[in-house]
Amino acid sequence: MAQTPAWPPASLTRLFVDQPLSQGMALTIDGGQAHYLGAVMRLKAGDQIALFDDRTGEWRAGIEQVGKRAVAVRIVERMREREAVPDLWLLAAPIKKGRIDWMAEKACELGVARLQPVITQRTIVDRLNLDRLRAHMIEAAEQCERTALPMLDEPVKLAQLLKAWPEDRALIFADEEGGVPMAAAAKPGPAAILIGPEGGFTDGERAAIKALPQATGVSLGPRILRADTAMAAAVSLWMGLAGDWR
Ligand code: SAH
Repeated sequence: MAQTPAWPPASLTRLFVDQPLSQGMALTIDGGQAHYLGAVMRLKAGDQIALFDDRTGEWRAGIEQVGKRAVAVRIVERMREREAVPDLWLLAAPIKKGRIDWMAEKACELGVARLQPVITQRTIVDRLNLDRLRAHMIEAAEQCERTALPMLDEPVKLAQLLKAWPEDRALIFADEEGGVPMAAAAKPGPAAILIGPEGGFTDGERAAIKALPQATGVSLGPRILRADTAMAAAVSLWMGLAGDWR
């Protein structure tokens, strides 16, 4: 028999909470999350939700009381351990607001371990709201069932980043002027993908990056992609070749 869509949905409403969770623990959810549970999802005392904390995994929790500003919940049991995250960093030059938000969201969905904003010579965005980027990553993690959040770091200058580059980490440099295919550069092990800003890299930057023995210039095809598209393409290729999509 044809079914109308199941309500409530089969999967539990998931929320990230920024405190270590444990069996039997009571906690209060407030602010926008309380509004979401009560007014948007219309959950009631006795309903269950899933919580994850980026530390201990994902837990089933029972709602004990729903108020306008606060929802009281109690942890019932652990459902999943924290996921293993492929060791891929995304180094991206800040680009304008809507597009960098999209990048943060998609980087989280695609599975990166860390987002490191990088200031390059042609970076034109000078203020980056890390709280807003983090909020986008949290929302993405809630929605795509991640139990770990990508780390998000303060922006660093490209020169500084190159100077302190870890010896054991491959630097996959998305070079709009061409390079090897991703299949020739992506190998299992610690890696980072570097994506430039709207204006691309300068010749000096290109030379400095390539001087690093850990760096490989990679081509993402014959078309010039926008930075956000280049990010999604490069991360997807890497995940398929060397990450956890294999
Ligand atoms: N304004 C530049 C393009 C910058 S595109 C120009 O006209 O040449 C923004 C970033 O996306 C680039 O710095 C690069 O990191 C990445 N990118 C875009 N298209 C690419 C391609 N075909 N191959 C590799 N990287 C690419």
